[in-house]
Amino acid sequence: MRVITTVAEMQAARAELQGSVGLVPTMGYLHEGHLSLVRRSLADNDHTVVSIFVNPTQFGPNEDFERYPRDETRDLGLLRALSDDIIVFAPAVDEMYPPDFGDWVELHGPLVERFEGEHRPGHFRGVTTIVARLFRIIQPDRAYFGQKDAQQLRVVRRMVQELGLPVQVVAMPIVREADGLAMSSRNVYLSRDDRAAALVLSRSLRHAERLVAAGETDASKIVAAVARMVRAEPRVFLEYAALVDEQTMEDIETLDRPGLLLVLGRLGKTRLLDNAVLIPPGVEASEELRSLVYVPPKP
Ligand code: AMP
Repeated sequence: MRVITTVAEMQAARAELQGSVGLVPTMGYLHEGHLSLVRRSLADNDHTVVSIFVNPTQFGPNEDFERYPRDETRDLGLLRALSDDIIVFAPAVDEMYPPDFGDWVELHGPLVERFEGEHRPGHFRGVTTIVARLFRIIQPDRAYFGQKDAQQLRVVRRMVQELGLPVQVVAMPIVREADGLAMSSRNVYLSRDDRAAALVLSRSLRHAERLVAAGETDASKIVAAVARMVRAEPRVFLEYAALVDEQTMEDIETLDRPGLLLVLGRLGKTRLLDNAVLIPPGVEASEELRSLVYVPPKP
């Protein structure tokens, strides 16, 4: 396995690669969610690049950039166990943001201004800037993103479309712990009690899924049921719950097409995202979209 830390070396290595290249961008502290993306890239492509970079520009001034968990030795071990053929790109901050850096990529409109865009001003500008920079350096044919960060995935898709970038963005389902908690590098912040309380997020999504399977299509009723469940757990502060169009992330009144149910619960300072794609009975949806519905943990 090759570990590259400079942009120049990464560009030189890329120039030598023949065949298709898959990119899995991560901030490290890898778990099974990240590894599912890497496995898919290994299966789809001749070469796989995994980037490990905690991107400072997507964190707000009072967020957890400094204390974000990092363990590169462990990350490299996990990747090596998957394949010896992976190229790891793990640059320092000043490699990605040299002093004269000015190449910001910023989208506008509701897709980047709602939800995470509203609660974390500047977050998506940081995301689109770093992803565009990684795409320019690595020139992947495919890039793999998790449904875990549903809004980010759709923002990246919009960026690729607007800039006309020659990259296929592949969406991968949320990987969960056996009890339903969506895997996240930030789960290490949770105390035992908070870890248990956080399960209300995935439980509320399952509940909504059952309502929809039983024929409920009124978006406000579905959201109200989710909000009620989450608010009944005193350790969790509900920042938002919403049911939106799966593609545009605009509000819907009636679930007559695939929807995206978003919840964000805060436990102390830790913000936990979860979501489920809801496809009402009888509505058509692509195979990829169907793969993104809540996958129940194995009994
Ligand atoms: P991060 O390191 O948190 O920036 O995540 C890197 C990539 O892994 C993003 O595309 C995430 O959406 C994806 N990811 C994170 N957690 C999960 C999960 N539990 N299941 C699937 N993908 C995930």
